Amino acid sequence: MTKILLALGAAALLLTTAAFAQEAHTATHEVHWNYDDHGPATWCDFSALCKEGKLQSPIDIVTKDAVAISAVNVIKMNESTEAKSQIIDNGHAIQVNIENGGIITVDGVDYKLVQFHFHGKSEEKINGKQSDLVAHMVHKSAFGNLLVIGVLFNEGKTANAMLDTVIKGVGTSGTMNPAALLPKDTEHYFHFMGSLTTPPCSENVKWYVMKEAQSATKEQITAMRKYYDHNYRPTQELNGRKVESK
Ligand SMILES: [Zn+2]
Repeated sequence: MTKILLALGAAALLLTTAAFAQEAHTATHEVHWNYDDHGPATWCDFSALCKEGKLQSPIDIVTKDAVAISAVNVIKMNESTEAKSQIIDNGHAIQVNIENGGIITVDGVDYKLVQFHFHGKSEEKINGKQSDLVAHMVHKSAFGNLLVIGVLFNEGKTANAMLDTVIKGVGTSGTMNPAALLPKDTEHYFHFMGSLTTPPCSENVKWYVMKEAQSATKEQITAMRKYYDHNYRPTQELNGRKVESK
């Protein structure tokens, strides 16, 4: 009996030591997700949803499969033209934190612009085509629900003033016009339900991708990619989701 108790005690001690060692290891060598050695294929280590979720983003929008938008999913945009801004490098993307950025209303719920950020190539594809850059304008409701507007950029002759402001202003704070990020035509877009495209890959995010892409010069695209050139997640399974089109 004593022998068994001693053995149990020793086993418990070993377990405790192992637990401490594990904790110390995690504390001194914390692993962060990224797009390289801890890239998208391993993000399930950070959040199971990244692998097991059924409403994951980004997706490839196949236009011939899109259905007409339901009335409840039509958005009313009221982005502000002067917002407080702080341009940061968040370690994964260039991001602009916004205060008083305006509101998008959908199905009677208001979503406030809280930040926008850039990916070095678009995450979402349209008929298999990836754009040269994408801006994601992240909006949040009072209940914490998310709505993201995707604005695609393709290389062209016309420079985008907003991109200049952001690229030249990394590390600074001030005011800017977030509405200037939007294309002229904000009446036509794709809509689908998706997720954050980075861990924790949280779902039930309302996605809207503008059909009209913006033009950015080669220099602007290169300048943005100097920060992050492959910070985009591969497209995810639709799992029966329908893309709506307006
Ligand atoms: Zn994004």
